[in-house]
Amino acid sequence: MASFDQYADLAAGRALLWLNPSLARQGSASELTRNDMLAAQERLHRFAPLLMRLFPELQASGGTIESPLVQAPALQQALGVGAEHGRLWIKADHSLPIAGSIKARGGFHEVLEFAEKLAVEHGLLAGGTSHAQLAEAPARQLFNRYEVAVGSTGNLGLSIGVMASALGFRATVHMSSDAKEWKKERLRNRGVKVVEHAGDYEQAVAAGRAEAEQDPCSHFVDDERSLSLLLGYSAAAPRLQQQLVAAGIAVDAEHPLFVYLPCGVGGAPGGIAFGLKQLFGPHVHCFFAEPTQSPCFMLRMMDGPGMDRSVYDIGLSNRTEADGLAVPRASELAASLMQPLLSGVYTVEDAQLFRHLYLAQREEDIRIEPSAAAGLSGPAMLCDSEQGQAYLAHHGLSKMMPQATHIAWTTGGLFVPPEEYRRFHEWGASLME
Ligand SMILES: *Cc1c(COP(=O)(O)O)cnc(C)c1O
Repeated sequence: MASFDQYADLAAGRALLWLNPSLARQGSASELTRNDMLAAQERLHRFAPLLMRLFPELQASGGTIESPLVQAPALQQALGVGAEHGRLWIKADHSLPIAGSIKARGGFHEVLEFAEKLAVEHGLLAGGTSHAQLAEAPARQLFNRYEVAVGSTGNLGLSIGVMASALGFRATVHMSSDAKEWKKERLRNRGVKVVEHAGDYEQAVAAGRAEAEQDPCSHFVDDERSLSLLLGYSAAAPRLQQQLVAAGIAVDAEHPLFVYLPCGVGGAPGGIAFGLKQLFGPHVHCFFAEPTQSPCFMLRMMDGPGMDRSVYDIGLSNRTEADGLAVPRASELAASLMQPLLSGVYTVEDAQLFRHLYLAQREEDIRIEPSAAAGLSGPAMLCDSEQGQAYLAHHGLSKMMPQATHIAWTTGGLFVPPEEYRRFHEWGASLME
């Protein structure tokens, strides 16, 4: 489902934009519904009083974990995107508290769903008891009999590990070799058991899954297969809808919305895109962004179902500084869900990620990690490339672009240590010449 040329660019590690020929005008029926998304949002809401007790930094937000939507006019200009293409906004998940990345959404939701299920089974939430009670000894003793485990390149481990241990679970994180040292350190400081694996993300997940299967008291958060994770991410959509309303931004036939989402295995961007399509239908256009050496989602979408190839199979290295996106094979759950919903996928070279990381700081004082910069290439990829212009023409959008809204989702960065960030920033600055 891709041209020979596009496969050639993909395999050569050249940046490209691929358009999804299966994009349907009306979202086709899937097993997941809008109600599933709203149920996840409700669950996060029920837990807010508990989260406020467990994490003092959530006092101000009443236990809600959310990020702002901010306009980025200076960055838009620095990225070379003119006002005739609409306006650039940033969905600032790089600032999400507790986890410091988009993984707070899905990861926290799955841990909380597991905790809620155990608490209900053991009568701890009977008769309308507030979830805040789950910070007390009876619940903690119950949770301590269970383990929550996960395999991760880093950020998912941080999110699951921190939330699970805060609730009183035993927490184990299986880390891939490309996971950053500071992420392991941060987890160990919180009493999380970190198991290091010599292999990549896929191997860390497989090892964690196999180990958890041996233990009936272990719950494995499966990044490649979990519905709970995906629905936790989707809860971002109704929140974004409220923020758009508050900012006076219309989304309709005359005001298209373009969203650019950094993609690893596909769960986070897939959940969010699913949610946005439930709310905005054909008026929202979702694009995923991947490093040129780890374009697993693009490969899966080009191949269609059944081929099950990894980026290694087409000669790519899966080596990228964007550790949150260093995934060799897409989640089948996310890929099949996205088949009729996704507008396209584009790839970005690492050097470009660093330039944009640098520009985000220089123009808007936004501090992001390399993975989170992938969304910033989106507007130019769409508006300046032949493929992108063909997409706009095909959907009758070319004339609407001055009223368009572009949202680049900056997915992580808050807890990157200052020395590490300085290195990224200097590298980005050196690439600007
Ligand atoms: C995990 C992650 C993503 C992508 O999420 P997937 O579910 O793996 O697709 C994007 N950005 C950052 C910073 C991440 O940690």
